[in-house]
This record gives sequence, structure tokens and C-alpha cells, in this order.
Amino acid sequence: MMALPTYSGETAIFGLGRSGLAAVAALKAAGNPVVAWDDAEAPRQAAADLGADIRDLTQDFGAAERLIVSPGVPLTHPAPHQLILAAQAAGAEILGDMDLFADALAHGSLRDSVTLIGITGTNGKSTTTALVSHMLLCAGHKTHQGGNIGTPVLDLPLEAGATYVLELSSYQLDLNRRFAVDIGVWLNLTPDHLERHGDMAGYAAAKANLFADGKAQKARIIGIDDDYGRALADKLSKQTSPLITIGAQNADMIYLANAIEITQPKKDIMSLADCAALPGAHNAQNAAAAFAVGQVLGVPAARIIDAFRSFGGMAHRLQVIAEHAAVTFVNDSKATNMEATRHALAAYNNIYWIAGGRAKTDAAGHLGLDMLSPYFGNIRGAYLIGEAANLFAENLADRLPTTLCGTLDRAVADAAFQAKSDHFDTSIVLLSPACASFDQYSDFEARGDAFCAAVADWISAEHELSGKAEGAQ
Ligand code: ADP
Repeated sequence: MMALPTYSGETAIFGLGRSGLAAVAALKAAGNPVVAWDDAEAPRQAAADLGADIRDLTQDFGAAERLIVSPGVPLTHPAPHQLILAAQAAGAEILGDMDLFADALAHGSLRDSVTLIGITGTNGKSTTTALVSHMLLCAGHKTHQGGNIGTPVLDLPLEAGATYVLELSSYQLDLNRRFAVDIGVWLNLTPDHLERHGDMAGYAAAKANLFADGKAQKARIIGIDDDYGRALADKLSKQTSPLITIGAQNADMIYLANAIEITQPKKDIMSLADCAALPGAHNAQNAAAAFAVGQVLGVPAARIIDAFRSFGGMAHRLQVIAEHAAVTFVNDSKATNMEATRHALAAYNNIYWIAGGRAKTDAAGHLGLDMLSPYFGNIRGAYLIGEAANLFAENLADRLPTTLCGTLDRAVADAAFQAKSDHFDTSIVLLSPACASFDQYSDFEARGDAFCAAVADWISAEHELSGKAEGAQ
């Protein structure tokens, strides 16, 4: 656990998920008075067990000198949470757990001995974070991974000489006041979370906090495949910190589509073809970012490449979960927006595509399916689930064969049956929903797990059928 300083006065914590509880524990361990609140009873009890006083902060903010909020609490859009207004009225500092992490490093006089890597972007954060961690572990670095992925930052061990690889969401960066990384990675930016940031400019500004006020001194690694990344790189190029741009379309770049071209310090070309866990051009973007981090930290290119080959990939992101009768089943439940699904559809042929869930529409109610249309030729049929099934069907009418399935079980059965019946040399039953999961599942992991279970059931029913058929011969 992090050794935090003892602050003056009371610290309020609102939102007692894993990172909120980690903050309670770390603050209490340093003898800080803590008052905590969450809308749900169970986490309140957990905070009380850790020694926090429990008070409904939304009714009575009191005299707390600082407020630690969970990243999900709206700061500005669609409207500031009433607690944010209360904290501002009381003159309290509003912080996130990354700021406490910065305090812990300063308190332990460790800031100069550790390397902090922050990874953000609309898509690819977790994959890149996991890939960078894997690469650094393979290269013998003392490495800790956390933040928006897996372990909350305040639960990570504090260790001199370690490298911390931190996935940072736009919500965390929006909250971030004192925390500054050494190496900042910005992968991409496409519309998402606009309800929280107001518009794309607000979303981009939140993420650009990673580089604000001279942060990320050691290197700024920017994906420039979209306009926002290009604009940011352009702006940062006027500053002195080293800037490394990665992208698919420019000769100066570190990677080209499915091959990585290293232009600095020497020219090397690397194909990702034998990196089984990094399919698709979007993973080349992630790999390019990881490669750039490796280079900044002096990891030899051959080591980096070996690490890419041995990377195991991540659950729920283009994860091959089973194969049966020339049909491969791919779990991409984490694809909760069109951009992520676009990359999945670009990565395969003969796709039996399971999509739907809770739609992420724009202000005019549009799904944004047009961005997928260049890949419709790769799709044999769309199997639609969840709240958005009808909306998808209307939008796809005359463009793709669609089946309204409602549930994931039914979609797996229908898609797999059709894929098997079509007898292609290879075909893919792909769950890449382009929607949030909350209409039918607690989160994307539960949806991906349900997909894996439905696939396992379908395959065992197939085995049973073929056993019976053999028995009857
Ligand atoms: P994040 O943590 O940013 O949500 P993940 O690594 O979990 O990103 O991947 C989320 C989804 O986006 C998955 O469906 C994955 O296949 C897809 N994806 C991964 N990397 C990229 C990228 N660089 N660009 C676009 N989509 C990506």
C-alpha cells in the first residue's frame, strides 16, 4: 500500500469503488481523518470497516479540506455533480487518486527514482498498457501496472527504481491536478464519453492534460492517425520535450499498417504477422506505441520484438476463444463503440457479426454505422441483440442480412449454425457489439463471459450431435 502523507484537516471521499476504497485505506493508514460516502450501502460498510466516518456528503459536505472523487463523478457535464459544487463552495481542493499517488511518491522521496508511463486514448489503452508492461517485464525492468486497468494505483507497491505503467482514462485525466508522468502515450481520439466532456473539444482537452504544464518531459508519444492526434502533435512539436509520432500514413512514422518501421535511431522493419495476440492494423498502432516506449527506455529492438511475439493478448479484446468445424469464435466484448468495432471488422473475412446492446447514439439519435460500411463486404450476416437490435436492423436494412436475436445465446446459435452451413475455409463468429453492455449485463466482462459460455454450450451440443450421428451409423 502507498505511504501517504498526513494532510491537514479532513479528507472527503465520494465514490467507493475499488479506487475509492484504496484511497480510504491509504489515507487511514497514514492517520488521516476520512469521511466517505457512496450511494450504495455495501461499499459504505466497507469504508467504515477501513476506519472512515460515514456521512452523506451530498447533504452535508462539512469542513473537509479536500475531496477525492471517483473518476465517474461529473465535474462539468452534463452538469457538475452537486457534491462538486458543494466542495467548490467550501473552498475544498478536488482531486483524484492519481494526485494522491503523486503525493505518496513525493512523501517517500521516490519521484526521481521511478519512471511513470501514462497511456491514454479512446481505444487501445488496456492493450497497450498490458503490452508495455509485458515488454518491460521481459526486458527485466521492475514493473507495476495499474490505474484504470486492474489494480487501483493506490494499491500498487511503492518501490524505488520501478517503472509504473498506468492506464489513464479521460475521466482520471480530467481530475488530475498534481500528477505528472515521465512518458505520456496518446493513442487516438474518436467520439466517446461526450456526455461527460460536453463535446469533442472538451474530451480532447481532458486527455491533453497528460501533457499540460510541461508534463511528460521524457517523451510524448502521439498517434497521428486522426485529426485530433495530428493537431496535438503539431502543438507539442513547438515545445522542447521529445515528441515521437506514430501512425500509419507518414514516412516519418514508427509503423506502417501491419509492419513497424523504426526510423530512429536506425531503420528496421518489423512485421507483426507472427504476433498472434496483436491482430489487425489497430494493434499495430498499439505495438508502435509500445515500441516507442521501449526505445525511450533503451530496450533493444530484438527484445521488444520477442516480447510482442510472446504477448498473450487480453480477454474480451479480439480474443480467439474457440474453434470448431472451421469456425473461429472471437470475443471482442470490449468493443463498446463504433471505432473499436471498425477495427474488428477490418481484421477478418467471412464474419458472422454479433452486435447490439445499449446504443451510443449522437445527439441526433444516429448510431454512426456508416463508418463501418467499408467493411460490410467482410460480413456475411449481422446477429442483433439487446436494446439496440431494432435500431441496428433499421440502419442495416438492404446493406447486410440481419437476424433479430435478442439474446446472446440465440445470436451465438444462429450465427454459428449459419457459419457452419456456409462451409467457408475459415469463418469468424465475432462478438463486437459497438454498444455498451448495461442493458443486459453488469459490464463488458460479464457480456464476454456470457459469450464464451454460449459458445462452449454450442460446441458441446455439436459434439453430442455428431456422437449421436456416429452411434446411429
Ligand atoms: P481501452 O482500454 O482504451 O478501452 P482496449 O485495449 O481495452 O482499449 O480495447 C478496446 C476495444 O478497442 C477492443 O475492441 C479492441 O479490439 C479495440 N482496439 C484496441 N486497440 C485499438 C486501437 N489502437 N484503435 C482502435 N481500436 C482498438
